[in-house]
Amino acid sequence: MTDLDRDVDAVVPDERNRARPGRNHAAPPLPAEPLAEPGKALPLVFTAPKRNKPARHWIDLTADERTQAVVDRGHKPFRAKQLNHQLFEKHNTDPAAWTEIPAAARDQLAADLFPSLLTEVSTQTADQGATVKTLWRLHDGSLVESVLMRYAATDTSSGRSTLCVSSQAGCGMACPFCATGQGGLQRNMSSGEIVAQVIDAAGRLGRGEVTGGPGRLNNAVFMGMGEPLANYKAVMGAVRTMTTPGPDGLGMSARGVTVSTVGLVPRIHQLGDEGIPVTLALSLHAPDDELRDELVPINTRWKVDEVVDAAWDYARRTKRRVSIEYILIKDINDQASRADLLAQVLKKRGDWSWAHVNLIPLNPTPGSKWTASRKSDEREFVRRLEARGVPVTVRDTRGREIDGACGQLAASQR
Ligand code: SF4
Repeated sequence: MTDLDRDVDAVVPDERNRARPGRNHAAPPLPAEPLAEPGKALPLVFTAPKRNKPARHWIDLTADERTQAVVDRGHKPFRAKQLNHQLFEKHNTDPAAWTEIPAAARDQLAADLFPSLLTEVSTQTADQGATVKTLWRLHDGSLVESVLMRYAATDTSSGRSTLCVSSQAGCGMACPFCATGQGGLQRNMSSGEIVAQVIDAAGRLGRGEVTGGPGRLNNAVFMGMGEPLANYKAVMGAVRTMTTPGPDGLGMSARGVTVSTVGLVPRIHQLGDEGIPVTLALSLHAPDDELRDELVPINTRWKVDEVVDAAWDYARRTKRRVSIEYILIKDINDQASRADLLAQVLKKRGDWSWAHVNLIPLNPTPGSKWTASRKSDEREFVRRLEARGVPVTVRDTRGREIDGACGQLAASQR
């Protein structure tokens, strides 16, 4: 009997594990109970309803379309540059502040080309004001959230700020541990609605409204509500606007933009074709198919080997290290044997540090039966990965008390 077999028997010597046809007995154990409550497993939803798309906004237009739009309304082409400057460089969303444009012209242009995208419903702060969660209402009443996190400079790192953005209202990926997934998918967000969250955050930082004085937005991570690669076109449009230099875009570094996915393999390959070196974050959460089928239901479509191969290929082509996201859930996926298997899955693709594991202590959500791992199990998980040469960090769980941490968005609006 190997150590791994002993771990399996010690943790879950149950019928569920024995009864699964074709189960590899060297694989780590499954939890004793199915993860989704019986009769409550949600279907995977890939195609969002087409209804309720917002009106086309300035942000949604290409550079040529913007120029044409102002010319069509009887203005000189340079007005397009002025509008871009106000929106993308000064982060002024209030037309009254566009004082370099005559009042009559700006009123007309704003009415035609700048429909309201986001209405602030509430803002909560935590971490002495360094974490700001905003709840937004979209034009059709859908609710989404974004979370701005500011990190002070330390001896070893400079200060930085990161915005966690939403890309869909709700989510169709049905991960049973996630508050957003339990609400289902309402609709895709437009590029304009996505970028508007970023402009708001950049504006708040620039005006010194976030603890730490005036600053700029360094990073944006697509880890709010939604599966970004299920809304591929709008997300890529948003990424292009975010990374286009000013005044035509927000001028963020592609390296500061992270696109996460639960594993839509064809879209990961497509992302690699784009030539925009954003960071890819793969929400793996389990290294074996049996558990991942339940924890991340998209795994029933694309298996661990396929999705890790796609991530590895992305790293190889873009030269960007992939972030492997792994939520640690007590007694579900935090066994030492799974740490060993995770290391094995990553190392067998090569020994060049193509991946970095980001362990995320589970954040409690209302009514959830799951909790974060014991600290001793978390430490052992880290130790086993490190012992096998896998770079690993444990994520700082910012915003936990305002339900602004990973897997919690939408937890408090229902
Ligand atoms: S974890 Fe991400 S992909 Fe899964 S349901 Fe939640 S928002 Fe969707």
